[in-house]
Amino acid sequence: MNSLKIIGAGEAGTRAALHLRETGWDGEVTLIGQEPYIPYERPPLSKTLLTKGIIPPALVSKEKLEELCINFSNNTLVNEIDRPSRCLILENDVVLPYQNLLIATGASARKLTCPGSEHALVLRNLEDSLVLRSLLIPKKHLILIGAGFIGLELAAGARMDGCRVTVLEAASRVLGRAVPAEVTEVIANEHQQQGVEIICNVQLEQIQLLGDGYVVQLAEDKSIQGDFVVAEIGAIPEIALAEAAGLQTENGILVDSFMQTSDPNIYAAGDCCSFPHPLYGRQRMRLEMWRCAREQAKCAVQNMIDTPQEFSTVP
Ligand SMILES: Cc1cc2nc3c(=O)[nH]c(=O)nc-3n(C[C@H](O)[C@H](O)[C@H](O)COP(=O)(O)OP(=O)(O)OC[C@H]3O[C@@H](n4cnc5c(N)ncnc54)[C@H](O)[C@@H]3O)c2cc1C
Repeated sequence: MNSLKIIGAGEAGTRAALHLRETGWDGEVTLIGQEPYIPYERPPLSKTLLTKGIIPPALVSKEKLEELCINFSNNTLVNEIDRPSRCLILENDVVLPYQNLLIATGASARKLTCPGSEHALVLRNLEDSLVLRSLLIPKKHLILIGAGFIGLELAAGARMDGCRVTVLEAASRVLGRAVPAEVTEVIANEHQQQGVEIICNVQLEQIQLLGDGYVVQLAEDKSIQGDFVVAEIGAIPEIALAEAAGLQTENGILVDSFMQTSDPNIYAAGDCCSFPHPLYGRQRMRLEMWRCAREQAKCAVQNMIDTPQEFSTVP
């Protein structure tokens, strides 16, 4: 192989490109990303950007990409993977041939489905975080739907900025999918002590615009009024391209433990893929963690250029 295209310039895609050069591989590498920026770290979006306005560090500078001869196209959406002719079709109809391909399209925010769901903001990329930061004004009331990791980070940040915060959670406890009940209790207590109101077992009915703010209507005729609403109810893998190209998918792009998809010339890594973990009886999982994205990306490209090795990093 002497040419590799990468779709998605997030953690996985960018690390893959850098890793190829670190190993001394000198083939052609093209990194294509939909966002208008130089690749950046996503975790600070719900932490230091919200509370201190610090723009997340770049994963690599433009100069370094040039020095490493990595062709980087930002602001570029890949519209289609044409597998029979091994080409990518970009949104401006440009056709790019590939020899080998890494799909690293990540995940996007899961959207609410109730009436008025369009009023709820989400937190997934730099723009979302900048919008939220501009809304975190002391005494403004944030209604946050979903008490997962990112939601609770937003709740904590909003409190630090002096906002009133109400968290609405459908399950019976916060962080229900992520940590055991004992840990939930510690985290919920800390948030409550800092003034975050947490309401569990809620059933959301609709979100309505009311003057300058919003009313979130719940079952049993309950409602909450606030200045802005954010829904952080998880992420869904970005698999549309892979599905349209006929690759196997199921809660993610299906890869084997070598990160190879059902097409031997195409690999996938990061939030978008579902992989069998050798340390968990080959149970399939899809992880949304930056370290996993980074390690999977390295493993995938290593396997494309060298003796294949299984991905077996402990999550
Ligand atoms: C607010 C927030 C906080 C987080 N905090 C943590 C944390 O504290 N710890 C942790 O471990 N993880 C955290 N994560 C998760 C972590 O950021 C992800 O696991 C990691 O970014 C996944 O990397 P990825 O490359 O798979 O996807 P992403 O980083 O999402 O990158 C995918 C990229 O592909 C682009 N793309 C998608 N489709 C196309 C297309 N068709 N054409 C071109 N480009 C495309 C997207 O625009 C995106 O830029 C956080 C995530 C968020 C959103």
